[in-house]
Amino acid sequence: MEKWLEELQSLLPEGHVLTSLADRHSYSFDASFGEHLPDAVVQVKEKQEVADVLKLANRYKVPVHPRGSGTCLSGGPLPVHGGIVLDMSQFPAIIDLSPRDLTVKVTPSVLTGNINKAAEKHGLMYAPDPSSAHVATIGGNLAENSGGPRGLKYGVTKDHVLGLEVVTPEGEIIKTGGQTIKNVTGIDLTKLIVGSEGTLGVIVGATLKLMPKPPAVQTIMVAFDEVRKAGEAISQTLTSGILPAKMEFMDQACIIAVENFQPVGLPVDAAAVIIIELDGHPETLRVERGLIEEIMEEMGAKEIIIPKSDEEAAKLWHARKQVSPAIAKIKPTKVSEDATVPRSKIPDFMDRLELIKEKYGLDVVAFGHAGDGNLHPNILCDKRNVEEMKLVEKAVEDMFQAALDLGGTLSGEHGIGTMKAPFMELELGEVGLDMMKRIKDSWDPNGILNPGKVFPEKGQKLVLHHD
Ligand SMILES: Cc1cc2nc3c(=O)[nH]c(=O)nc-3n(C[C@H](O)[C@H](O)[C@H](O)COP(=O)(O)OP(=O)(O)OC[C@H]3O[C@@H](n4cnc5c(N)ncnc54)[C@H](O)[C@@H]3O)c2cc1C
Repeated sequence: MEKWLEELQSLLPEGHVLTSLADRHSYSFDASFGEHLPDAVVQVKEKQEVADVLKLANRYKVPVHPRGSGTCLSGGPLPVHGGIVLDMSQFPAIIDLSPRDLTVKVTPSVLTGNINKAAEKHGLMYAPDPSSAHVATIGGNLAENSGGPRGLKYGVTKDHVLGLEVVTPEGEIIKTGGQTIKNVTGIDLTKLIVGSEGTLGVIVGATLKLMPKPPAVQTIMVAFDEVRKAGEAISQTLTSGILPAKMEFMDQACIIAVENFQPVGLPVDAAAVIIIELDGHPETLRVERGLIEEIMEEMGAKEIIIPKSDEEAAKLWHARKQVSPAIAKIKPTKVSEDATVPRSKIPDFMDRLELIKEKYGLDVVAFGHAGDGNLHPNILCDKRNVEEMKLVEKAVEDMFQAALDLGGTLSGEHGIGTMKAPFMELELGEVGLDMMKRIKDSWDPNGILNPGKVFPEKGQKLVLHHD
């Protein structure tokens, strides 16, 4: 046994270091692509253990890959360089609310959906609502700067973080930010850590912002007979003075997939639907609902559906949540992207996706948070088909290029991880990427924390096929 592993085992309580092949396999994948076996899995339960592990790993220059629930769609927690997977999900899940301050302190293992459930008991809400909130950890959300449907009105994770407790790659415990809404003391390290994908530090605690829960919500579903019309209707709504909380898009393939999976009565003959949620005072919602109906009629909507009860509305939102598992039934492999464009460019991006689909003859479906320009084009394929996967690689590259041509970005919320690292220079330029790398190198001089993520390795390409 290697010396570092022997020392690690003597450092931590029995059972915290897992080395059996079965255990290591369980931590070799996430919800994206690729499998990489770690040398050891370490289940930490308190911040001092994290600090001890990082000190040791830094001394022996052993890679450490933090991991929450492993729901990442970009390869973030994969141990691509072996070493240690640091399982943060075994921390005690603590949610400590301060309703009078409108804040909550959490440990990294807390499931994001549970923060909102706890806040609701006090008439409050934690706004970020990734579709995976019921299974993903807040540590993972902070590391990925995750977003969800409500991002349209309320922003993403970084907009709701007041302070963090972080273990540095050299094993020191630091605090960033604090508990106040205003805080301009020095460089904003909180914002630097949020979205750094486990490459700068391990998050062991966070203070998050809460807000009053809106008194009422109104759901509206609108069906269109042309995808482009749906895109234009989204732009028109957002420039009308109304800001919905959510504005989600599903194309026909997604509608049919959901109906085949868990039917709720979505209009399967529509080319696309938009599902909208307005929130606020009931009187305001009544007026805004009328205005949206007018806009949608002007934009040539095929059908406007207003749910008759909260249960009916909940069914529509459940249907939207089911898109990911439903399309996964169509073909064995799903390559899920989240390139994002300025809102006014949504119709153009939809056109470009259609062209990519035709060019490579691939099964491409689209859904997502169209209100903030964050579509999720998914390529449905079969990873055993080498020739098809080579086309998928090219199609993904074209999608990124299309988003960047339209003034957009590689990722709206799923992060860079291993999957998008080869494309970073396309968006940031050589110097922009180098400036980012210099920050990484100064935080982590030995490069032990989550290597192989975000920053491309020399000549790295997106490879989804196995010859
Ligand atoms: C069905 C499905 C739906 C999804 N929907 C959404 C969505 O709507 N919006 C969205 O943004 N994402 C979505 N995702 C992606 C994923 O759920 C998020 O990225 C989530 O934040 C990952 O959390 P996790 O606990 O699973 O973290 P992991 O997948 O385990 O890790 C994610 C990253 O965070 C790092 N990390 C984890 N914990 C820590 C820590 N304590 N300190 C430092 N780094 C850490 C890891 O190294 C890795 O880089 C979805 C995924 C699935 C499978």
